[in-house]
Amino acid sequence: MNFYENTIKNMNKAAKTMNLDPETLLTLSSPQKTLIVSLPVRMDDGTLKIFEGFRVQHSELRGPFKGGFRYFPEVNLDEVKALATEMSFKCAVAGIPYGGGKGGVKCSPKEMSQGELERLTRKYVQAVYQIIGPEHDIPAPDMYTNPQMMAWFMDEYSRLSNKYQPGIVTGKPIEVGGSLGRGTATAQGGAYILEKYMEKNDMKPEGTTVVIQGFGNAGMYAAEILHGMGFTILGVSDSKGGIYSDKAIDPFCVLKDKKEKGSVTDCDEGKTCTNEELLEKPCDILVLAAMENQVTEKNASKIKAKIILELANGPTSAEADAILEKNNVVVIPDILANSGGVTVSYFEWVQNQSGYYWPIEEVDAKLKRAMVEALERILEFQEKHNCSMREGAYISAFDRMDKALKLRGSGAHLKCKVYFNK
Ligand code: NAD
Repeated sequence: MNFYENTIKNMNKAAKTMNLDPETLLTLSSPQKTLIVSLPVRMDDGTLKIFEGFRVQHSELRGPFKGGFRYFPEVNLDEVKALATEMSFKCAVAGIPYGGGKGGVKCSPKEMSQGELERLTRKYVQAVYQIIGPEHDIPAPDMYTNPQMMAWFMDEYSRLSNKYQPGIVTGKPIEVGGSLGRGTATAQGGAYILEKYMEKNDMKPEGTTVVIQGFGNAGMYAAEILHGMGFTILGVSDSKGGIYSDKAIDPFCVLKDKKEKGSVTDCDEGKTCTNEELLEKPCDILVLAAMENQVTEKNASKIKAKIILELANGPTSAEADAILEKNNVVVIPDILANSGGVTVSYFEWVQNQSGYYWPIEEVDAKLKRAMVEALERILEFQEKHNCSMREGAYISAFDRMDKALKLRGSGAHLKCKVYFNK
């Protein structure tokens, strides 16, 4: 089952449990707009290369389309559709006034120079220019895209529209309209949710062990933040593999070695292992912060963690969910666990639109409140319907989107699929 089918399966399950209006489910079961573009980019060696890019706008029922764009060799339309759909649910879960969208370009960013990445990013902006806007569709970083690329994105969009438009994209560097706290927001939001959930279940960070898959924006900050809260980090990984120690590893040493030598596996804080092995290592909490489809029916029964925190999007398949539920493993689902990222993106956009910038304390306090409220609401739905936290999260989001659809009327979700190459 691919990521998109998995997302639709999660939606159908929750819709059935809550007895959702079938027309609402039907309306939200396909994206409003799908754009495929060809991006010609001059490479450093003088050759011309054509890259395939996507922007999927799932729903603008509750506000402008919102969602990042990723650079990755395996990006495909189904994956971007799944991610865009999840964004609509995530924004509804977090109670922020956005719909969902997502983008991506099929490329190998690790093999490209800064100049090539800048030219690709500017071409992507030119190609999607007609369908985005600060009040219509607001992109952000995702896998292998970063604040520098958001700065190029903002610059190109401002140039094309002949005015300074910081609100066109979030995740920008502070110097060009970014928000304090955006870099750490995904991990920080996840940490606030985990902390609250543990508090409710009489658990404490001290003596609680953690393994983290993925050591990029989400995973690296999660390691630092959870370590700072008193959790014991036992293992981490990146695309080259993992390290694990049955005592503890210091994420700051891992980061130093990764920066200097290239991978977490170059750090001797723990013994090296494969990514697959790392997921099955003993720990209390497994943080998935790499990519989709990592826990499946093949390895779900081997997971030893009691709680899985999904900072990545779509890391657990529907089949794996059933096995984990049977084994009493609590899954804090992606659309809740990583919603801190889009929540602070929303704060960044509010600051851009008003031209007034907040101190970090204000960003943090507002993020914490949003995360705790989102969790409490989901736990209420979970109790009411006697279901998993993932289903509770989908129900929480459906409830808000269903109300918006009924209030706006059936014209609100205009269907329009565009497939064209430039
Ligand atoms: P990133 O590019 O900063 O980091 C990705 C990390 O995953 C890297 O360390 C990479 O080496 C590692 N990785 C790649 N393949 C792996 C594999 N097979 N096994 C283990 N590690 C692997 O990306 P990110 O922004 O941290 O995003 C990670 C996940 O979090 C994605 O699913 C993304 O959609 C999700 N997410 C990110 C944000 C955000 O604000 N950055 C917000 C919400 C969700």
